[in-house]
Amino acid sequence: MLLAELADQLVDAQNAVRRPDYRCPACHEPVRLHRGRQVIPYFAHLPQSPCVIQGEGETPEHLAGKRQLADFFTPWGPTELEHVLPMIQQRADVWVARTSQPVAVEFQCSPLSLAGVSTRTAGYQKIGCYPFWLLGHRYAQQRLNWALIERFMGWLPRWELCLPFWDVTQQRLQLTHHLYQDVAGHYGGQVTSVANLAALIAGPTQLDPYPRLSLKRVRYHWAQELARATPNLRAVQEFLYLRGHHLLGFPEAFETTGSTPPVLGRGLLLWRILFGTALFALNGPLTSNRLAPLAQHCLELVGGHEQTVRVSFPHLVDRLQAQLMTELVQRGYLTVVPDGWQIRRQPRWRSARIGTD
Ligand SMILES: [Zn+2]
Repeated sequence: MLLAELADQLVDAQNAVRRPDYRCPACHEPVRLHRGRQVIPYFAHLPQSPCVIQGEGETPEHLAGKRQLADFFTPWGPTELEHVLPMIQQRADVWVARTSQPVAVEFQCSPLSLAGVSTRTAGYQKIGCYPFWLLGHRYAQQRLNWALIERFMGWLPRWELCLPFWDVTQQRLQLTHHLYQDVAGHYGGQVTSVANLAALIAGPTQLDPYPRLSLKRVRYHWAQELARATPNLRAVQEFLYLRGHHLLGFPEAFETTGSTPPVLGRGLLLWRILFGTALFALNGPLTSNRLAPLAQHCLELVGGHEQTVRVSFPHLVDRLQAQLMTELVQRGYLTVVPDGWQIRRQPRWRSARIGTD
């Protein structure tokens, strides 16, 4: 930590001299000043008395980042390093006393469990402050992945779904924004370097178009995965096999391109193939009551979710289902009847061999 208590005053490690009576501002146990030629000065608990408020171990990145972030957020209001919140037993790396709503800045450099992120986020929300997570170097190096998105994805006006990274070397916010998933499940987003808070509020200066996806390539990749018998697609292929089909022969009727929020696991296309297959295997009228649980089950099969720690997508599956049903009606596969739909004709499955259609 950067601050310690000394006779009811807070002392910043960079102005401190060695003495034995510094105390932790949160738990009031003794802490010791660490300083040397190579290290950014900081205070640490004695090994035998760890703090009641857990924090991450102090790395040079974390220590430097906290000070930089306090400067970065200053235009929003007075900032305070390592603000202790006894009510929720948490310590915000930087506290921004913003008039409309206080902001708790968390600079996360070390690994943190899903439960850890959820608890800390819920704590801040409970006291009515906005938790702003910024991720350090180890996270910035990763390819976009679900663990990252599930824990830390937020939503900001004009940037939409995003992951904020703080680059200590450049002293800049690197925002991966307009996060999405293509229908084959690949995560994507645009990266913009944000120099200051005014630029953060202004939003991106330009928006890149979503890359085009070739469904032929998707089939090719699935074929490779099936050939390698990777567990990823096994449950999916089994589900289809029991209904007399092979994944690679999926009908044109279920095809789609575009993008979705990045929460659909293996992607929208696979969900449509599974749900469409199950739908056309049903006998009798297709009512919403019969379809809704099926749609949810297919979401689980593709590893999709309707929420992350920070963002929920209520009725996402309902909307995907409604979209598919509308298309199937328009293309003559289904007819609308008073209490739902009726199958008019079956979609045609293709040969499962690659390169034959
Ligand atoms: Zn303590």
